Amino acid sequence: MSSASTDPHCYFCQVSQRKADPFIFENRSFVGIFDTNPVNPGHALVIPKRHVASIFELNSTEQADYFDAITGVKGVIETTDMAELYQEMVQRDYLQDRPKTHIETVLQLPFLDQKPDAYTVGNNDGREAGRSIDHLHVIVLPRYKGDIADPRGGIRNVIPGRANYQRR
Ligand SMILES: [Zn+2]
Repeated sequence: MSSASTDPHCYFCQVSQRKADPFIFENRSFVGIFDTNPVNPGHALVIPKRHVASIFELNSTEQADYFDAITGVKGVIETTDMAELYQEMVQRDYLQDRPKTHIETVLQLPFLDQKPDAYTVGNNDGREAGRSIDHLHVIVLPRYKGDIADPRGGIRNVIPGRANYQRR
């Protein structure tokens, strides 16, 4: 990896250089990690090794490796013992000085030891879409029956109140 392809101040560049969260997956262009602020059990991120902000900036090699990465991470999610994962994560040294509410919350969820029923996959491509770190990170979020009361519309709910629609 050339030094020009990473930014020393970028958290996800540190991740891709193995200086932060442990890898759960790696291919030529991407690494995968479990998010340490999980929304649901198995919440994972797929991160390009190269410092690019947007999915639309991926080059042809990275595009070719993208699907392999998201499906590879899905396979890891489905073979990981979630109780064991989060009991280990909550003990990690580098997380000791920050709130661990998300980890403690998922440890209490009734579907912690179940296989995901569905997935939400995607990224916030731009600050206005909610991206907070300007290095692409694709979210692979396992979904479980009952994790919210009414999942209809899914990702449409990013604009509250305009998600629901009626099909004739
Ligand atoms: Zn970066």
